[in-house]
Amino acid sequence: MLGKLETVFSYTAHFILQSWPENSPGLLFLTDSGGRVINFMDMHDSQSGNSLSAAAREYVQTGKVCHYILESLGTKEVVVKTKNGYVYGAFPLKELDGSVRAVIGMIVAQQEIEFDLGAYMRGLEPLIRMGYDAYIQHATSQIVTDLTLYDTARDLLTNLTRQISSIISKGYCSAVKLSEEGVLVPQDCVTTEEAEPGQAHIAQLVTRIGNTPITPMALDDHRVIVVPVSLNSVPLYALFLHLPPKEQDCFYDTRDVAFLQEIAEKASCALWRAIMSDDLRREANKKDLLYQLMSKIQASIDVNDVLHEIVTSIPSLYPYFSVELFLTVEPDATTPVKQLSFQEDEPSTSTKAYLEGRLVAEEVGEGDQRVTVIAAPLLGKQGIYGVLQVTSNQPISLSQHEKDYIAILADTAGTAFENAQLYQQSRNLIRELRLINDMARQLNKSLDLKEILDFVTEMMQATFDAEFCAILRKQPEEDKFDVLSASIPAFNGTVVNAIEKPFRQIMQSKQTLLLAQPGAGPLPFSMYSCCSLMGVPLVVEGEISGVLLVADSRYHSFSFDDYKLLEIFGQHASLAMTNAVLHNEMERMVITDNLTGLFTRRYLNEQVRASLAKDNYGSLILIDIDYFKTVNDTFGHQVGDEVLIQVANLIRHSIRESDIAARWGGEELAVYLPRVDKATAHAVAERIRQCVEKETSPRVTISCGLAKWNREMDVNLSVEALFHQADIALYEAKNSGRNQVVLA
Ligand code: GH3
Ligand code: MG
Ligand code: MG
Repeated sequence: MLGKLETVFSYTAHFILQSWPENSPGLLFLTDSGGRVINFMDMHDSQSGNSLSAAAREYVQTGKVCHYILESLGTKEVVVKTKNGYVYGAFPLKELDGSVRAVIGMIVAQQEIEFDLGAYMRGLEPLIRMGYDAYIQHATSQIVTDLTLYDTARDLLTNLTRQISSIISKGYCSAVKLSEEGVLVPQDCVTTEEAEPGQAHIAQLVTRIGNTPITPMALDDHRVIVVPVSLNSVPLYALFLHLPPKEQDCFYDTRDVAFLQEIAEKASCALWRAIMSDDLRREANKKDLLYQLMSKIQASIDVNDVLHEIVTSIPSLYPYFSVELFLTVEPDATTPVKQLSFQEDEPSTSTKAYLEGRLVAEEVGEGDQRVTVIAAPLLGKQGIYGVLQVTSNQPISLSQHEKDYIAILADTAGTAFENAQLYQQSRNLIRELRLINDMARQLNKSLDLKEILDFVTEMMQATFDAEFCAILRKQPEEDKFDVLSASIPAFNGTVVNAIEKPFRQIMQSKQTLLLAQPGAGPLPFSMYSCCSLMGVPLVVEGEISGVLLVADSRYHSFSFDDYKLLEIFGQHASLAMTNAVLHNEMERMVITDNLTGLFTRRYLNEQVRASLAKDNYGSLILIDIDYFKTVNDTFGHQVGDEVLIQVANLIRHSIRESDIAARWGGEELAVYLPRVDKATAHAVAERIRQCVEKETSPRVTISCGLAKWNREMDVNLSVEALFHQADIALYEAKNSGRNQVVLA
């Protein structure tokens, strides 16, 4: 492989042939450093027919010329030999380092030349230089022409370095971006090396040269050549020729340096144009992205959409950056999010940006690990929602323009957060109003305490999507709570100690929202193993009467908004419970007859109906005062009333707690005796009859009708039917002379 030399030979041959005497047939050829013939040509126009003999040609073709070629390779001098009527010449092509990589050979017929071939060959030196120059010129113009084909800097440089490398044919060619200050930007590098990233020779060179502005230079005894490419004093890229350490005995000569310098000069314009068009394209992309983000914010309030767009688009705009998001708020993030840390002594870049509310760019890490970190706060009008942080894989200096752009992206995310939060807030508000409205309506519907409690429990569970909800009542004077209603039925009716931390906290602060930190394990609460807990006290008439409790085993299951909503639940529940308690009082009043203090007829009916449903038997006594009209007529209505009260009291004292005495009508009374048989009921009725006869004043008597029932005999007996039977018996008692008990 002679590469460049073979091309140079073609050029040189052109000049040699020009200077060769006419009509002197001969062969011109090129060998490599091993003496192998690479290329050969007739030194005379073959059309004249005056060419070298076939034997001589074969001599060259079959490689038999090698011994004098090898001599020339060994001595590095021109060798001329005459043999068998031919003159053989060998001219070593010396590199600047003195090494010989190729030999130009000649064979001519002895009788055809009248001059010293050795002298002629020594005179070839300037011709060869010319040939080389012509070749370089040609190659340079080819490279410069090719530069117009590419409109991205990367494509242009990939091609340029490849072409330079193939012409120089030694080591590698690389191009590394230069900052405005002329310092290498290692992230932006194009090289003909095929090493693993980080292992490349060019990477080591860049690290070695470091932060100094690049000027044309030769390092390591001309084993590394650096030439900056700039246009109008604006640094663009640095071109490198570099020999890897393994390629010993080699260096770049002045011709290589001159060539690289010429290319650097000629390529600068095209390179600048490609960089400009890259910039324009990137600017357009950046504007596109901003536009898309803005449209997304306008069109939807989905923070995730906006975050996702930013996080995925940054690497395409800044290929050397990785992106991280730090948030103070917790969206239902589909984009990976990190927590800002405020614990460290030395605040991280992201924390600084958050605390200072402005973009922070700094270099962090040591040695090889040193990187540039740029953190921009997600700034809204009402606050900072987090930090957008980009990290380069190596230190990099970013223009103010780029920093501004990253700040705008972060602001955009901040605005998106704000919009989403406002939207969420208004939605929460609507949700709360709707829930409160529903709750108030439901609670007003019912005056049954148990029903209200169960309803509130259900509602809490549905609203907060909680695993466990309960309503607890504080035992008066005791540090204990009864579970009145729980979403897990097994807890109903259990008793818990109020000394436990969450309860103590609720009682003391009159409010509680406890959230365990992720990973910290459940809260100290024996009732239900949970990492999130909310509790609000129920206040009835200024006193804490109970607690609403919502708990979940998930971390951070409840928000502060949830807690505020639970407070409102608590207020409504307290009110509803107060109402229910008052209503119970009313109910008690309604079931009692005003005059006699006995139960009302409605209550009696209900109790008889309940007994018919659940008991196996029972008895009913209907009582009517005899000739009561006469009492009224004789002593007046008031005395009549007093007699009625006397009779009622006598009845009350004659029956047990479980029996129900009621005022049935005007002066008609009734006693229902659940689970009491006929004989016993009869005895009770008789006892009442005798008491009334004996103890009333003015004295009255009563007539009683007794009806009984049992499950076997009276299937589906109605309340009315039982009363009817008793009524008939009473009628019979009246007809049979009054002051007696008659069985139905
Ligand atoms: P008997 O039942 O023995 O057939 O005769 P009676 O005179 O009691 O007749 P009845 O039961 O039909 O009369 C009911 C009377 O009781 C009519 C009414 O004046 C009187 N009465 C009903 N309710 C009251 C009441 O609350 N107070 C008073 N003072 N009288 C009442
Ligand atoms: Mg009557
Ligand atoms: Mg009567």
